[in-house]
Amino acid sequence: MDGSSSVRGGEEFSPDLCIVGAGPAGITIAQELDRLGISVLLVEAGGLGVEAAVQEQSRGESDGYPLHLLHHSRVRAFGGTLRPSRLWDEGWAARPLDAIDFEERARLTDAAWPFRLADLEPFYERAVKLCGIQPFDAASTSWYQDASDTARSLMDGELEPMVFQFPAVAFHDAWTELSASEDVHVLLHTRVTDIELDATGRRVRRVNAVRPDGSRVSVHPRIVVIATGGIENARLLLTSDRGRGIGNTHGLVGRYFAERLSFFAGYVDLTDGTSIEDLDLFHRPGLSEIGGGLRVSDSVQREEGFLNCALFLIPRPAAVTSSGVRSLATLRKSPDRRPRVHGMWRHMRNVFTGLPDLAGMALNRFASRPQTLALRVQGEQSPNPESRVTLGRGRDDLGIPVARVTWAMTELDRSSTRSAADVLDRSLRDRGLGSVQWAAHLESTTLIEGNHHHLGTTRMHEEADRGVVDPEGKVYGIENLYVAGSSVFPSHGASNPTLTIIALALSLADRLRWLVDFM
Ligand SMILES: Cc1cc2nc3c(=O)[nH]c(=O)nc-3n(C[C@H](O)[C@H](O)[C@H](O)COP(=O)(O)OP(=O)(O)OC[C@H]3O[C@@H](n4cnc5c(N)ncnc54)[C@H](O)[C@@H]3O)c2cc1C
Repeated sequence: MDGSSSVRGGEEFSPDLCIVGAGPAGITIAQELDRLGISVLLVEAGGLGVEAAVQEQSRGESDGYPLHLLHHSRVRAFGGTLRPSRLWDEGWAARPLDAIDFEERARLTDAAWPFRLADLEPFYERAVKLCGIQPFDAASTSWYQDASDTARSLMDGELEPMVFQFPAVAFHDAWTELSASEDVHVLLHTRVTDIELDATGRRVRRVNAVRPDGSRVSVHPRIVVIATGGIENARLLLTSDRGRGIGNTHGLVGRYFAERLSFFAGYVDLTDGTSIEDLDLFHRPGLSEIGGGLRVSDSVQREEGFLNCALFLIPRPAAVTSSGVRSLATLRKSPDRRPRVHGMWRHMRNVFTGLPDLAGMALNRFASRPQTLALRVQGEQSPNPESRVTLGRGRDDLGIPVARVTWAMTELDRSSTRSAADVLDRSLRDRGLGSVQWAAHLESTTLIEGNHHHLGTTRMHEEADRGVVDPEGKVYGIENLYVAGSSVFPSHGASNPTLTIIALALSLADRLRWLVDFM
């Protein structure tokens, strides 16, 4: 079946469940509910491939700390944002959150999840199977056994291993299964424009969508799940019910936007006798499915009060962390960030004064041996209500306000990456292995980037006035509206989000399977 041509304009649907958005979250729920006799309508704005015209719908504005252009950070097509071919050729990084990520933490307000890691573990186990990867315990053990004695000695104190797996599962492959399903009907090229409430204001009455030829699609579902991604979930709630907004009684929709901080923070100055190979923890020979890094143990994080952070030691040419090279990378990527990166003159000066480093980089391309261990960090942000998604001044081609992201960073966000690197420094020095050289260029704040992880904008909380959704993902105040995806994360940890998105989607699917009979 080709979903793009199977629907006539002006059609009406009355499924049990309407899922808006066919990314990893929406597809996982649809797959779980397939063949259960529940009718599911999966409505996707894009087609089977990535199309420039459809990508335009993802344009938006950003006016805080420079963020990647929104239409380059999200993909509108069946399979969702996890589509760039690199991600399924080389695998996308998967890892569960850590126990501490679910807890209330000393310097954070409202960071706790309404449940603990142990409660999500059964769903992580299913997510791991769905992604075709090993249980994380087994992966950690085999990775640890492959590590050198020197590397292992680093992980017996304040630091512990942080193992990532790289599934090759591509969600767009689900098309074969879902397009043949009797229960799940997929509408491609169908953009949801409004979720309308009934007269009570407590129930979704209709989901309105539009197709590229302008024809209308009306859906009258018993239950709706919004799964349109971390920014778009907030935008759809803010613009819905004919512009009145949904779920925003406490003004929380769009607040607490977070990204994952990602940058080269410095390098490890190794002592004589310690080799790069000894500490090459990220090692993925032949793009193997496991790679790793280090993290500061939960107990030290609790004691010292900083945020979770992944530390990757990656063999690189010596110049990679120099100011000149990093400034050149920033300048090269700056057209892709909004607002424009500031301090351009300083970056240009760094490039000019760093010409010898750049020459070193160029020469190193021809040499096969890396010269240093670069320290790359992937840091967590604290939940911050001032970092937010609102509606922009601009409008899309249908006249709907675009998303505007005001990304903010706190001092704790920045200092936490430094504190984690300090623990690594201490551990290296104590063992006589080397030291961390924190790169001076970090004084220029714009070198820190986001990792395209859009988090927190419809946060989950057990109290209605402190969250947008309840612990099951239901929008507070609306009986039959749920949200899936990283927008529900109340705090974020240092792991990439999609494995957790899938685990939560599996949990929600279990709930929906049961709920449909009662709605
Ligand atoms: C370059 C890059 C690298 C990444 N690498 C990793 C990684 O290694 N590991 C990891 O865990 N994560 C990674 N991510 C993040 C990952 O892509 C997201 O976490 C994941 O795709 C989110 O899934 P989702 O289903 O919630 O949303 P999305 O994947 O964004 O899917 C949302 C879907 O909803 C559709 N949609 C939106 N609005 C509407 C509407 N109004 N009507 C109908 N449909 C709509 C969209 O077309 C899209 O198909 C990466 C992201 C990028 C950009």
